[in-house]
Amino acid sequence: MGFVAYPLATALGLVLGSFYTALASRILYFAYGPGRRIPDRWKTILLGRSFCMHCQTPIEERDLIPVLSFALLRGRCRHCSEPLGWHTLAGELFFGLLFPLLILSGQGWPGSLYAMLFCGHLYIAIATDYNLLLLDHENALFLLLWAVAFSLYDSALDPGLFARHGVAAGIALALFLVLYVAARGKGLGFGDVLLAGLIGLFLGIPWTLFAIVFGATASVIYIVYIRRDRSQPAPLGAGMALGVMLTLVVRAIYRMSDTAVW
Ligand SMILES: [Zn+2]
Repeated sequence: MGFVAYPLATALGLVLGSFYTALASRILYFAYGPGRRIPDRWKTILLGRSFCMHCQTPIEERDLIPVLSFALLRGRCRHCSEPLGWHTLAGELFFGLLFPLLILSGQGWPGSLYAMLFCGHLYIAIATDYNLLLLDHENALFLLLWAVAFSLYDSALDPGLFARHGVAAGIALALFLVLYVAARGKGLGFGDVLLAGLIGLFLGIPWTLFAIVFGATASVIYIVYIRRDRSQPAPLGAGMALGVMLTLVVRAIYRMSDTAVW
């Protein structure tokens, strides 16, 4: 069974990783960047051919293989040699590793797929929050859709288990709303409040706590040690989204141990 399942999950994960990393850069380019005046831009975002964001040259089919193409091109565009960005490779690798890991931890195919799709939209949230400090509205709707699908599947429609997701969503929303009002929108955007609620709905109790603590820590480290400018707003949303991805890995490994109770 695993003989077919794990390679299949890896391949599907790589395809999803390739799709979402491309979608994230297209959303930045067409919805918020130089391409925002192009008519029918959503059609171009979803169906258009991939092209280099620097020189606009369409990417050849042989250069569209996830991970492998990046390695062969040494991370640069074939035409203009501009870097493609390490985040593309990191995204593709992560998705290619997470899907088989979820299957291995006994998550089941539908639940694993919903989790992968949720992570795909989290990847977009990281891109928009890191670059523009915002959470795209359409993207938030997709996060809601996959969080509901995953939490219903994960709780097997059991009201008690589903409550763990609902309560985590409520607590995260309430907590972040209080912080948002207290900070008067400074350093904490309304997108962060929404994202915290969506993460709560997806992860439930107790794992939401892990993701939020990781997110807060990561964004403080980013501001103090990497950006070195404490007056700048922290990309808290991006940190929490990364925290969810890390949580899924930790949770999968934890579920494979004999002592797992959650
Ligand atoms: Zn180029």
